[in-house]
Amino acid sequence: MYSINNLNKHYSNGEISHQVLNDITVTIGTGEFLAILGPSGSGKSTFLNVLGGLDREFEGNVLFMGHDLGSYNEKQMVAFRRENIAFIFQEYHLLPTLTVYENVKVGQYLNKKNSSVDEILEKVGLKEHKHKFPNQLSGGQKQRVAIARALIKGPKVIFCDEPTGALDSSTAKMIMKLLLDLNKEHNVTVIMVTHNQELVKISNRYIRMMDGRILSTIHNKQTSDLD
Ligand code: ADP
Ligand code: ADP
Repeated sequence: MYSINNLNKHYSNGEISHQVLNDITVTIGTGEFLAILGPSGSGKSTFLNVLGGLDREFEGNVLFMGHDLGSYNEKQMVAFRRENIAFIFQEYHLLPTLTVYENVKVGQYLNKKNSSVDEILEKVGLKEHKHKFPNQLSGGQKQRVAIARALIKGPKVIFCDEPTGALDSSTAKMIMKLLLDLNKEHNVTVIMVTHNQELVKISNRYIRMMDGRILSTIHNKQTSDLD
């Protein structure tokens, strides 16, 4: 899905230049469930933003299904994101004045594939809550809405930036299990930044980042199921 070669990125502030991504070379397979770990400030979010087409200021080669993201202009990047990419964040980013149903419907406007809101809500276990507003939902339920809104686009890749960071551990487990099921069922590639060690166990592979570099890439021989 992704072939990344010698990816570099730095921020300049006058004379001071700060290297945020440092010579990253890695490939990411279709259908993979990849976790990214690393301390705060190690470049994880920046890496996600480059892969997801939110950040075009980088050096090196980032190929998505053979297409060079570095060659895209802003308009092509918007099209690339709309066609292929969904993001899930720790803070959910739901629209407070819209119901669960309507929040997911927003995602549907962005795709041409004809999946139904009700079907997706059933899949994430929110069918009976579809008329509620975000402030009537628990944290786990809100994250399910965000997942439903991502999924209805029919993305090839879902990026998750600390998706369970605001959730208690048993709710976090349920959200993880849902993402894993969707990854398997839809063959959608999931690339996730996390501190959650539990989650790392279910990934196919995890990358450790430090100071903008990949320290290690570890394959899980046997991905454990969450119970
Ligand atoms: P992580 O997600 O691992 O916490 P980030 O990718 O958010 O790391 O940040 C990596 C580094 O880049 C940090 O040192 C951060 O301060 C710096 N950084 C992020 N955004 C900017 C920016 N807009 N301008 C300057 N430095 C930035
Ligand atoms: P889709 O499921 O593809 O979005 P529709 O918009 O036609 O298709 O709606 C499907 C079902 O959802 C129908 O049963 C409809 O009554 C119900 N529905 C439509 N709009 C809303 C809404 N804003 N809130 C809750 N349910 C809705």
